[in-house]
Amino acid sequence: MRSSLIGKIEKAKGYAQEPDRVTFSGLTAVFRGKNDDHELSYANGKWHCTCNFFSQWQICSHTMALQQILSDMLPKEALVAPMEAQLVE
Ligand SMILES: [Zn+2]
Repeated sequence: MRSSLIGKIEKAKGYAQEPDRVTFSGLTAVFRGKNDDHELSYANGKWHCTCNFFSQWQICSHTMALQQILSDMLPKEALVAPMEAQLVE
């Protein structure tokens, strides 16, 4: 029992060096902005943020920062900004 747990711990250490094994399908977070805290989420393929800028643009510095922080761990569609998507179409 004990030795198998040690094996799992070793395996976890290896996995922790390979973040691209993980893809978030959804997440919620509190982003500490310069003036205020904002609640951020990614669910069902859509970003949301409680800041004022996001309500107008459907994108903001907080969602863009999180996309950069988690880039290897987000599905491809989560990395496309709404404005970029419009330019591609
Ligand atoms: Zn925001």
